[in-house]
Amino acid sequence: MLQGKVAVVTGASRGIGRAIALELAKNGANIVVNYAGSVAKAEEVVASCKELGVDALAVQADVANSESVQAMIKESIEAFGRVDILVNNAGITRDNLLMRMKEDDWDAVIDTNLKGVFNCSKAVTRQMMKQRYGRIINVASVVGILGNAGQANYVAAKAGVIGLTKTMARELANRNILVNAVAPGFITTDMTDELTEDMKAQMLGQIPLGALGKPEHIASVVRFLASDDAAYMTGQTLNVDGGMVMQ
Ligand code: NAD
Repeated sequence: MLQGKVAVVTGASRGIGRAIALELAKNGANIVVNYAGSVAKAEEVVASCKELGVDALAVQADVANSESVQAMIKESIEAFGRVDILVNNAGITRDNLLMRMKEDDWDAVIDTNLKGVFNCSKAVTRQMMKQRYGRIINVASVVGILGNAGQANYVAAKAGVIGLTKTMARELANRNILVNAVAPGFITTDMTDELTEDMKAQMLGQIPLGALGKPEHIASVVRFLASDDAAYMTGQTLNVDGGMVMQ
């Protein structure tokens, strides 16, 4: 399905990013596994991609830092000759009620979750324009649509990602660069492991399908958006949330 394509997946050493990297690899794409923390975990993902028969490379970069991102994209193009797919997945949370939220926590989340998408998308755009081909897929969140008490920074960033997706889609459509987003609901990863049992029970009550999601549920929708099956879609946000948001 994605034979010979080159995909850069940010924050790909664990959780949803890891599942996306493996799903794209399973479908034939060569993978750049971006990581910020542990190189060992990123190398494990690289090894798993190679076992699936594709080429893969771990590249460290802080998505919030434009120079670091430009170096990552340069290294990706030097290694593989092109970048067809960018998945903006890297993200963090620094939750607190608005009145207690520290300015540093606001900045850190906006810089990683929103500016990170801007940095990475901007860095691949020139190459994708040259190719007259590109797929940018942003990982937003249903809270960017619904709002969520205690997550002003995160919600603002994810709502921003949804708006940015639409604007980039309009700017880049005439070069055959499609820009879409997925909005996960509650997915079991290290990010949600930090939640208390009470909070998880409260979440389950909001999910019509009655279960938390798995990273693979997000990865399969990203694979669809990266494929030619989604060739006539751009500027869309697909909610992958067990039915939490029904539009
Ligand atoms: P996670 O914490 O397991 O993974 C996030 C990854 O991003 C980690 O590998 C981390 O190292 C990386 N990262 C963080 N800051 C970075 C930076 N500055 N530069 C590069 N990489 C960085 O979380 P996850 O649950 O797998 O989340 C993945 C994405 O899905 C995030 O954008 C998150 O906001 C979004 N999301 C998750 C859920 C959920 O329920 N888990 C719900 C909605 C949206």
